[in-house]
Amino acid sequence: MFKQSAQHIGTYYAATYGSIPLRPSQAGSEECQILIIGGGFSGLHTALRLALAGKQVVLLEASRLAWAASGRNGGQALPGWSCDMPPFEKALGLERARLLWDSMTWAAEEMRELPLRHGFDIDYRSGAIYTAVLPRRVRQLQESLEEAEQKYGYQQLSFIPKQDLPEWIASPRYLAALHDAGGAHLNPLKLAQGLAAAIEAAGGRIYEQSQVLGYRETGSGYVARTAHGEVRGDVLVLACNAYIDGLDRTLSKRLLPVGSYQVATAPLDPELARSLFPRGTCAIDNQFVPDYFRVTPDHRLLFGGGCTYLGGIPKDVPAATRPYLERVFPQLRGVQIDYGWGGHIDCTMHRTPDVGRQGQKYWLQGFSGHGILPTLAAARAVSDAILGDEQLLGLYQGLSNPRFPGGDLLAAPIEAVGKAWYRLRDTI
Ligand SMILES: Cc1cc2nc3c(=O)[nH]c(=O)nc-3n(C[C@H](O)[C@H](O)[C@H](O)COP(=O)(O)OP(=O)(O)OC[C@H]3O[C@@H](n4cnc5c(N)ncnc54)[C@H](O)[C@@H]3O)c2cc1C
Repeated sequence: MFKQSAQHIGTYYAATYGSIPLRPSQAGSEECQILIIGGGFSGLHTALRLALAGKQVVLLEASRLAWAASGRNGGQALPGWSCDMPPFEKALGLERARLLWDSMTWAAEEMRELPLRHGFDIDYRSGAIYTAVLPRRVRQLQESLEEAEQKYGYQQLSFIPKQDLPEWIASPRYLAALHDAGGAHLNPLKLAQGLAAAIEAAGGRIYEQSQVLGYRETGSGYVARTAHGEVRGDVLVLACNAYIDGLDRTLSKRLLPVGSYQVATAPLDPELARSLFPRGTCAIDNQFVPDYFRVTPDHRLLFGGGCTYLGGIPKDVPAATRPYLERVFPQLRGVQIDYGWGGHIDCTMHRTPDVGRQGQKYWLQGFSGHGILPTLAAARAVSDAILGDEQLLGLYQGLSNPRFPGGDLLAAPIEAVGKAWYRLRDTI
């Protein structure tokens, strides 16, 4: 369904990175212990953990590393999953859901530490706020805080009433917010490149522009075929997310690719940029289709909002996004927008992550638009399981991720109708 281009698309991250090193394409026949398909965060984090554990790792990426969601996102590293905790509690019970939550707080801490440990920079900035537009969603913020503290022992949240909001955000749109001291924002392309360098330093092999055209199971492992060769691995890890498509039909039927898009303005006057977020946090509202935004180190506003359940991306992303941006920050009316781009998020039916194993084949997908920390938590579960500790993976395997009804042609329209109702609820 989707075609990977040979190079990154025109995101703010790719345009401002400088020269992005190109890894070789795979050719000929080779072997490894761990064969990973997909060079986004899921594949990269898994590869790094296993390479550091002494495994021979090969990672194959169809395009460039972080070409898809991992290089196009809002850079908000927020503790939690897209589905929140209720589906985990329902499937696993509170005690086991707590173990999963602990792995999330581990991921938030690890995201801060990992670049320091391996000597790379991701423009890491602490702190996130979750804002509310509707009165009933102010109550939701308060309930989330109580639940996080009482059920999960998470003490990083604090409530910000309306009168204190100007200390946090220069927007008239919100009624209240929660500050999450465990949240952060970062440059995702720098993260992906840093992870790749660390994998290579640990002996891992990475190939770009090496799409896997198919794989087969042999008696003793898996063989993945590329245009110019093949790689045999004892263990296979599928980390292809919304782009898995024909490579594995069983996994792809559990995902619906949803289009999501954002913009980066021209650099703002530094004073103006600082005034938008006096405490340097990022922000996301708690609408069903959220606006999420932050200021970059070079003083641009990065703003995402809106999505399309039929999978397409608007032709003119800046024009589609500007009304949302100006609704939040009227003082930026008419601001110059330098970059606009879109990508696909991999929604599962209940927005629960789909992480599992069958024989020596493992997969991580279904992060449903919230994946910077969840991919790291899932990569730990998968790599631990490969190394013999199945506890975390067992938790994910307790979730049920059904296939979408309606088959390939009808799944997206059916979902679009359903989601239209939830969007309507964003206004009432
Ligand atoms: C616009 C947008 C904004 C977002 N904002 C945020 C945010 O602010 N915070 C947050 O937490 N999350 C956000 N997300 C979600 C987050 O980016 C993803 O959940 C996460 O990056 C998923 O990582 P991944 O490695 O699983 O998948 P991807 O990054 O999509 O990587 C999958 C990779 O697999 C490769 N691949 C697929 N098929 C093959 C094949 N046959 N052979 C070889 N390679 C293959 C693809 O080319 C791709 O590079 C956002 C997503 C989008 C699209």
